[in-house]
Amino acid sequence: MSTKYIYDDNINGDYFVHDACIACDTCTDIAPKHFKLTTDYDHAYVCKQPKLSNELALCEEAIEACPVGAIEKQP
Ligand code: SF4
Repeated sequence: MSTKYIYDDNINGDYFVHDACIACDTCTDIAPKHFKLTTDYDHAYVCKQPKLSNELALCEEAIEACPVGAIEKQP
């Protein structure tokens, strides 16, 4: 059973960040419309779910670039 904690700040939808996040700022750099760091720089969260194909592409890029695999999609 997985013990990862999915942050409450994530906007409801397919993409989410969980507690493996080390707040490295990579996803927020790649897709700033969709990922933000918390004000205390504790972790990133999804602030806007992607809809358009270019938005989806950026979020997929963020998933691949995340060094700790902290961004996932609902199956
Ligand atoms: S790329 Fe991954 S580890 Fe870095 S801030 Fe985003 S979710 Fe966190």
